[in-house]
Amino acid sequence: MNAVELTRELVRIDTINPTSPEKPCAERAGRLLQDAGFAVQAFEFAPGRTSLVARRDGPEALCFVGHLDTVPLGAAKWSRDPFGGEISAGRLYGRGSSDMKSGVAAMVEAAVQLARTPLRRGLTLLLVAGEETGCEGAAHLARTPGALGNAAAMIVGEPTGNVPVVGHKGALWLRARTRGITAHGSMPDKGDNAVLKAARAALSLADFRFEVQPDPLLGGPTLNVGTLHGGLNVNSVPDEAVIGIDIRTIPSVRHAPLRERLQQRLGPEVQLETLVDLEGVRTREDDPFVQRVCDAVARATGEKARPGAATYFTDASVLTPAYGGVPTVVLGPGEMALCHQTDEHCRVDRIEQAVAAYVEIARGWCAP
Ligand SMILES: [Zn+2]
Repeated sequence: MNAVELTRELVRIDTINPTSPEKPCAERAGRLLQDAGFAVQAFEFAPGRTSLVARRDGPEALCFVGHLDTVPLGAAKWSRDPFGGEISAGRLYGRGSSDMKSGVAAMVEAAVQLARTPLRRGLTLLLVAGEETGCEGAAHLARTPGALGNAAAMIVGEPTGNVPVVGHKGALWLRARTRGITAHGSMPDKGDNAVLKAARAALSLADFRFEVQPDPLLGGPTLNVGTLHGGLNVNSVPDEAVIGIDIRTIPSVRHAPLRERLQQRLGPEVQLETLVDLEGVRTREDDPFVQRVCDAVARATGEKARPGAATYFTDASVLTPAYGGVPTVVLGPGEMALCHQTDEHCRVDRIEQAVAAYVEIARGWCAP
C-alpha cells in the first residue's frame, strides 16, 4: 500500500454526501491504522455516517484531520470514470481525488510509516464524515464527551496544492423572515405587506459596516443578500417573505454578537434563523508550528513555502475551538481550484510530497 494506491482505492468507494455513507471508507482506513498500532474508534452521527478517531496516546498530541465524504458529481458529463481512480499523465482522476481522499490517504500512509517510531507526544487522526454539508461529523465528535482527546496542534488535509494555509474565513448563513397580513390586491390598505418589509430589510443590509480591521491575508468580512422570495400571486398582499443572507467573516468577528447587531438593525419585524454557523480560523505566520510546517513543506517539495489563505471553510471551524484554539495549518495535496469540479483530479507527485511533509511534521513534533 502507498498513498497513491490508497487514494485510488478510496476514490473507488462512492461517498457522495448525503446519498452514500462514509462507513466503507472509514473501515478501510481504520484497518490500516489499527495495523499501524493506533487505537481506533468509530462514531456515527447517523446510520453509516462514520467518523474515525485513531490515536497513539501521549501528551500535546498532533492532530491530522480529513473528511471522507464528497460532493455530488454535478450535471455535466465526466470525461473519466468519477469512481475509477484512473491515472493519466501524472494525474489521478475521480470525485474526491483532490477534495480530499488524496489528503486522507497521505495522512494514513504517513501514520503507517511512523508505526515503528517511538513517540514522546500523541498522534491523532480524525477522519470525519459529513464535512461537505456543514461539518456534521466534526461537530458530532466535538459534542461527544471524550471523543476528541487532547491536541496541541492541528493539520487539516484539505486541498491547498501543498501550500501551508494559515487561515480561512467563516460562514454565517441566515434566513430572515418577515410576516404580514394578506388582503385582496385591489385593497392593499386592508393588508400588511411582507414583501415591502423584506425589501426594507434587504436595503438596510446593503450598507452594513462590520467595523473591524481587515486581516492581512483574508481581507475583510463580506455580506451578500443572496435570495429574496415573497408573495404568491400578483393580485394579493403578500403575508410572508424570506431573505437569504450569506456572511463571510474573519476570525476577529464573533458570530453571536454579529447576529445580535444584525437583529437590532433589522428590527423586531424580522425573524432571523441561522442556517450555517462556522467561524473563521487564523494562526499567526510567526507561530513556531507554522514555521515547522513551512520547513517540512520546503524540504518535501524543494520549494520555499510561504503561508497562504483559503476561501473555503474546513472542519477547523469546529475543531480548532474544540481543542482550545490550537495552532492550525491547512495543508493537502489536492488542487484548490479543482474542488467540486467535473473531471476533478490530483497531481500524483503532490500526493507523494504530502506524505513526505506529513511524516516530517509528525516526526519533528512527536519524536524529536
Ligand atoms: Zn473538502
